[in-house]
Amino acid sequence: MTPQPTPTDQHYPHLFAPLDLGFTRIRNRVLMGSMHTGLEDRARDFPRLAAYFAERAEGGVGLMVTGGFSPNLVGWLKPFGGKLSWPWEVRPHKFVTAAAHEHGAKICLQLLHAGRYGYHPLTVAPSKLKAPINPFTPRALSSRGVERQITAYADAARRAREAGYDGVEVMGSEGYFINEFTAPRTNKRNDAWGGTPEKRMRFAVEIVRRVREACGPDFIIIYRLSMLDLVEDGNQWQEIVAQAKAIEAAGATIINTGIGWHEARIPTIVTSVPRAAFVDVTAKLKPHVALPLITSNRINMPDVAERILAEGIADMVSLARPLLADPQWANKARAGKAQAINTCIACNQACLDHVFENKRASCLVNPRACAETELNYDKTFAPKRVAVVGSGPAGMACATVAAERGHRVTLFDAATEIGGQFNYAKKIPGKEEFHETLRYFAHRLEETGVSLKLSTPVSADMLKDFDEVVLATGITPRRVDFPGADHAKVLSYVDVLSGRVTVGRNAALIGAGGIGFDVAEYLVHEGGHSSTLDPARWMAEWGVDPTFEARGSVVPARPEPPAREVWLLQRSAGKPGARLGKTSGWVHRATLKAKKVQMLGGVEYLGVDDAGLRIRVEGVEQLLAVDHVVVCAGQEPRRDLQVDLLAAGITPHLIGGADVAAELDAKRAIDQGSRLAASL
Ligand code: FAD
Ligand code: NAP
Ligand code: SF4
Repeated sequence: MTPQPTPTDQHYPHLFAPLDLGFTRIRNRVLMGSMHTGLEDRARDFPRLAAYFAERAEGGVGLMVTGGFSPNLVGWLKPFGGKLSWPWEVRPHKFVTAAAHEHGAKICLQLLHAGRYGYHPLTVAPSKLKAPINPFTPRALSSRGVERQITAYADAARRAREAGYDGVEVMGSEGYFINEFTAPRTNKRNDAWGGTPEKRMRFAVEIVRRVREACGPDFIIIYRLSMLDLVEDGNQWQEIVAQAKAIEAAGATIINTGIGWHEARIPTIVTSVPRAAFVDVTAKLKPHVALPLITSNRINMPDVAERILAEGIADMVSLARPLLADPQWANKARAGKAQAINTCIACNQACLDHVFENKRASCLVNPRACAETELNYDKTFAPKRVAVVGSGPAGMACATVAAERGHRVTLFDAATEIGGQFNYAKKIPGKEEFHETLRYFAHRLEETGVSLKLSTPVSADMLKDFDEVVLATGITPRRVDFPGADHAKVLSYVDVLSGRVTVGRNAALIGAGGIGFDVAEYLVHEGGHSSTLDPARWMAEWGVDPTFEARGSVVPARPEPPAREVWLLQRSAGKPGARLGKTSGWVHRATLKAKKVQMLGGVEYLGVDDAGLRIRVEGVEQLLAVDHVVVCAGQEPRRDLQVDLLAAGITPHLIGGADVAAELDAKRAIDQGSRLAASL
């Protein structure tokens, strides 16, 4: 089913070719993949959920999939999570389906039974095996219990149809319930539902067959197939091909690609995963089935998506987080304005991390995501002259939103380029995506007509003629005060990342927060080059079988040797890195471990001299004979201008690091800048 270019879509012709499914037609090849937002669990949040989908449908997406809804209570992801098992649960969904259809998109409901990943005591599974990432042990189902689950799927699908959905996505991957049946790792049964590959896949096939029976021929059934389990004892390639064929024969309309179980120790979506890293597995399945295939994971820009479709790797591309970041993604691509896309940098900080913390999802680069009904950048009736000092994330967000609303905005920075600390972040191996945020804001500043004054250190007297003054001047790195803190060996992370100093073969890092971890990554990679830009190197480093033939596609990892010997130190007791992001911290810790970085907590710094750094740990003094000591000890607000402004009778607004430096990240900086600008 090779897409046919049409003359109107010259920029990405394959991406914007419609997909004809026989009984229905999808307007293009962009699928908005399923994401849990936290708005699915209570009926009262559905109007907000509808607004969220409406913006993405209006933004040109072809087909959307909701976050997961369980077909019954035991399949809950968490207590009182979204489910569709009772007649009265249908009505709120009608807001969502109407919103999507009003803007020409199709929408499917995802049926997600959590199985042993459910975070509650009622969980069920093919076998009584606790997941390593969940404290709850599931109950093994009887044969009658298995039948009841299948019926629940069919009933829920029928209700989805009643609610106006164009179809359902049956979640068969990521280590959830159905995947637990298909894999020998979690299915130890010896009855009709386990024991041989055919019996293990029977549950999945029966669900698709019964859903088709319940919903009729003109209903989309997407089956999300785990093409790479990325765990020991996962499925083997021939078993995956057999599953795909049987699912097709059972009546599925489309097969979507699922990559990696949640308990896998191989990252699948964080920013250091190469773009489109796993699409070759979809390509490998293509010759074996006739139905359309969707490919997925780390596809965030239209050139990547177009290449995948043009090369015949898949028939549709799934983008999830990129549509949180920019609801207008498809319209911008279609208009040939890829430069205007607010690109998802795969940080997980405001989306997945929030979901894991039981908070509503949003997006670091787009604070309006999932806040569409409350955070709006309406035109102002009283334009003001606004000065924003500092063009880091906070200042760029504030200036562009204020200008979008109609204010006359001047953005000052002492530096020669916009971006503030993002210019250091982008140099960290595995954080190459941060370049995209800088590209987006450069474009957006121009588009909104912000007057940009670079290489301009600002003093209070320059700000007299403005109606509003915003200080987004960021931070200064914290200094340390132990003996020898001024020794030539002692550097700041700024000295290192700006390239002012070349670090020797051995280094100790003081401070193991986000920046300490990032600087360690920078130092262990020679010349700062990571495998993120080279999928083959990346797969070798993480132990992914590039042929996808090994069971679970897991092979021994072959990490490249570190470029330097690095010590990563903190004063607090416990393991460094405990406060890093929930869904990405483990990846940073695993990378540094593979690079033999020595991480120490409970460290007392005694001083630096020509011999190196002297420390005491658990009462024992040690000398780390390092060439350099790099200080990554946190930051202090930089707001010297505030005093002069107040003296001149001007009360500035403070945002980002200039406001509070502790626990500062770009998520808060952009959110605070945008919200202030929305209120001016
Ligand atoms: P800044 O980015 O510090 O910008 C302040 C700007 O003000 C600077 O450009 C400065 O030149 C300018 N300025 C200051 N004084 C004046 C003056 N008087 N006149 C004119 N201009 C002035 N955050 C995350 O969320 N996720 C990450 O993965 C992440 N990784 C990071 C990696 C590294 C290596 C670093 C260093 C930081 C990272 N951060 C990350 C933190 C993030 O970059 C900061 O939280 C964010 O940049 C703070 O934004 P800000 O706008 O408040 O200040
Ligand atoms: P941080 O996370 O606050 O870490 C500072 C580190 O320095 C801690 O390990 C702290 O541990 C140590 N420290 C503090 N005061 C010290 C002192 N006086 N002497 C010696 N050590 C001291 O700050 P950061 O690493 O500078 O990061 C700044 C912000 O950027 C963070 O808030 C972070 O969220 C953000 N960031 C995020 C990411 C990300 O991937 N999400 C990446 C980079 C940065 P002890 O007190 O135990 O020694
Ligand atoms: Fe992408 Fe980060 Fe936004 Fe999530 S928070 S959608 S990963 S940019």
